[in-house]
Amino acid sequence: MNHADGTAVPEAASQADDAPRPEGPPQKMVAAREELTPMLSQYLDLCESHPDAIVMFQVGDFYEAFCEAAEEVARVCEVTLTKREDSTGTYPMAGIPIDNAASYLESLLDAGYRVAVADQVEDASEASGLVDRAVTQVITPGTVVDDELLSGATATYLGAVAGSGDETALATVDVSTGECQVTSGSAYEIGEELDRLAPAELLSAADAPDFELGFETLVSNPDPEAFDVDGARETLSAYVSAPESVVENESEMRAVGGLLDYAEYTQGDDGPLEYVSRVRRYDPERSLQLDATAIRSLELFESRSPSGGRTLVGVLDETACALGRRRLTAWLRRPSVDEREIRRRHDAVGELIDRPLARETVRDHLSEVYDLERLVSRVSRERANARDLRALKTTLDAVPEVKSALSEMETDPLQRLCDSLDELADVRDLIGEAIRPDPPQEITEGGVIREGFDDELDEIRATEREGREWVSNLEEQEQERTGIDSLEVGYNQVHGYYIEVTNPNLDSVPDDYTRRQTLKNSERFYTPELKRREDEILSASEKADALEYEVFTNVRADVAEEVERLQSLADSLATLDVLATFAAVAAANDYVRPEMGTDTVEIEAGRHPVVERTQGEFVPNPADFSDGHVAVITGPNMSGKSTYMRQVALIAILAQAGSFVPARAARLPILDRIFTRVGASDDIAGGQSTFMREMAELTDILHNATEDSLVLLDEVGRGTSTTDGLAIARATTEFVHDEVGATTLFATHYHDLTALSERLPEAFNLHFTVEKTERESGEPDVTFLHRVADGPSSSSYGVEVAKLAGVPSTVVERAREYIREADGADNGQADRAVETAEAAESDSPTAPQATTNGQDGRRAGNEDGTETGNKPVEQEGTTSAPKDGTLAAYVDGIEATETDGRVTSDAEDDVLDEIRSLDVAGTTPLEALNTLDRLKQRLDD
Ligand code: ADP
Ligand code: MG
Repeated sequence: MNHADGTAVPEAASQADDAPRPEGPPQKMVAAREELTPMLSQYLDLCESHPDAIVMFQVGDFYEAFCEAAEEVARVCEVTLTKREDSTGTYPMAGIPIDNAASYLESLLDAGYRVAVADQVEDASEASGLVDRAVTQVITPGTVVDDELLSGATATYLGAVAGSGDETALATVDVSTGECQVTSGSAYEIGEELDRLAPAELLSAADAPDFELGFETLVSNPDPEAFDVDGARETLSAYVSAPESVVENESEMRAVGGLLDYAEYTQGDDGPLEYVSRVRRYDPERSLQLDATAIRSLELFESRSPSGGRTLVGVLDETACALGRRRLTAWLRRPSVDEREIRRRHDAVGELIDRPLARETVRDHLSEVYDLERLVSRVSRERANARDLRALKTTLDAVPEVKSALSEMETDPLQRLCDSLDELADVRDLIGEAIRPDPPQEITEGGVIREGFDDELDEIRATEREGREWVSNLEEQEQERTGIDSLEVGYNQVHGYYIEVTNPNLDSVPDDYTRRQTLKNSERFYTPELKRREDEILSASEKADALEYEVFTNVRADVAEEVERLQSLADSLATLDVLATFAAVAAANDYVRPEMGTDTVEIEAGRHPVVERTQGEFVPNPADFSDGHVAVITGPNMSGKSTYMRQVALIAILAQAGSFVPARAARLPILDRIFTRVGASDDIAGGQSTFMREMAELTDILHNATEDSLVLLDEVGRGTSTTDGLAIARATTEFVHDEVGATTLFATHYHDLTALSERLPEAFNLHFTVEKTERESGEPDVTFLHRVADGPSSSSYGVEVAKLAGVPSTVVERAREYIREADGADNGQADRAVETAEAAESDSPTAPQATTNGQDGRRAGNEDGTETGNKPVEQEGTTSAPKDGTLAAYVDGIEATETDGRVTSDAEDDVLDEIRSLDVAGTTPLEALNTLDRLKQRLDD
């Protein structure tokens, strides 16, 4: 990749403004190039070879930036802007301390910058003239490797896309672990995959589609040649012996080639990346596909509540180590569609539940395991220090214990896991023998290598030790020789070893003492022998430190030889941790093993895994799709519709991820995709949700769902007026029913949709029940039972509550009718059946508890269903629908009846007016109750 030609112009998706970015060579220096001091000229060169990054240039203990970049660094990192003078002028300068660079670098990354770190690459004390500097690393959002800048649980990806149409390819690498993956598919599928992985940084080839990204990322468009297929093949051949056999098509080759090329560039461009040990091709179809909207709305990894509630991963994450934590996230993000694999996971979880002692032993030992993947990657990148190697040993120490706890397991998957655990005794022993147990952070200052590991080192250390011993005996020896009892031997940084004699004793100083330093009350001396010993000690110490470093790097290189075995161990430990976690969570929360591969979803007493843990009592609910695949769910706000729908999806996800599920029993098909759509006004946390977006998302489902998909539609169509919303909601349901055949749950406050089940044989109604109760004061109250029941709910919650609150029946009836007619006006004649059913229902003594409307009797047996005939019933003393169906005509109709001999008081008129102006659909239950309370007061007065 030719980054030097300046064509790689990055743009941060997160930065909306087009403010000039301070990358690239500062023009002021370019103009003065010939006269610049050597150091600034070196800085300018590095800026020119890294035009897409802010160059941080080591000067002593600081990384400095100059000119516009300095101003930006000062602003972003909140450090002081100073200046550097030179014969050519004054240049703004800002620096960050190297010792403490991480947090500053993080700020720059957050602000959307790449940072090229230019280190001094030769020892300043040895350099003749200008110290040589080179960019050793380009830190970018997708390629950060420092632990301080990475979050342990989630992978940070760098992504690259190339190709178009049905051959659009996406390659990703997690730079911290070296996991490199590539896939291809339609532009749509790749867009989905991108959203799912949300890479922190994305390289986009010229021919790649312009993806609309739902996440923040740094996008760049590197030179076309970076994605050239021949160059890509060459890049990839440094990683795998037969590039063609890994990838499926040219786009994949180009994506992965461009990706690795850039990753190499960020690591200082010195050859292939050692830590990338495998490049894996995968097929997104091989997993249960959750699009980004579903991941978000099901709150798998992030809560949608601003206060940050719990998530699915939060509830399940009882993992013992970081390896398991990442694997858990990966399994939840990409649940399996391989029935055999899912069964194997369930087998393993089942046995781990049955053997709690062995399980807890395994988990205990896994908790001693460090982040092996990242350790291994540090080792192969030559970044591991002695502590990292000791951490590796601690990890390896745990393996035999884990293995022995597993050895008693009987199910096939656990036995295999046990067999696959490589103890790596050779590596463990090598580190154990070579590296001291509690080594310092630095590997250049000694104290790292154990005695007995390297003979030469031991010899030098012995010399050093002898010297020091000699010095420590010197004091006593010289006191005896000179007879000066107060004589002292000491050491100081500047003058080295000395013998100190107080002024009164100076007469007794022997001839071989040479004066070194005069103090107020004493003199300091040395002897030729002391000087010789001092030189010996210092040079031995220096030599030993250097040798230790050499020995250390050799040990590290030996460990690096075993990268593949270590990675495969990490892989097994990660899997084991997740399986043991699934078992622990299942045991603690009463989950059951789901039966997989059935034709329809049938859940007995299912629970929402997150809600049940966050609130005291949870009402289990069944979900049975054996008689129909489209459920229309109605019920008042807050009655439990959304929770219910999500729990069905979460149970499916858990099951396919390999976990047991929160239910009394579950029979589940293998789903291929889950879609969830939440109506705009419900999606407050989503922020930018608009009606357009809602429609685009719906279109998406209609194109991509299959009969093996699960579709959740929650109040879809809310983002618009009732008429449009209702029409769209209805059309969607019909389409899903007729054409798609997906298992569908449709929660809606449009009661009219319940009529759909009459026309659609595979559709049925469910509703959530509420109960009338009394407060202590005797006031009526409504209790949400959160219990699902067959059949549609009664039409209008607000009105039902009105009735409960004791509003006079004339008003209630008026309101009922108003709503009915308004809906009728919206819906046209097709819905007469509903209206008449409701009209009948409003007479029912059991209102507001739900009634079934005829055809739903097939699902009856519900607690509170009262069969009512489906015959049209006109109500006495109420208005009939105006013939032209408009709202205006309806209002006229009301006025007409009002003067039709019926007496209404002023108060009643007021109340009616207020009811007319109510936005029932947009009213919360609490607001409704308050409003009613006020209305009732008005009438009572
Ligand atoms: P809706 O979508 O009908 O407005 P929600 O599903 O959002 O209702 O539920 C509202 C609240 O009721 C939830 O936040 C939860 O606290 C509670 N809830 C829902 N379902 C249950 C249940 N089955 N058992 C107990 N509480 C529930
Ligand atoms: Mg809801």
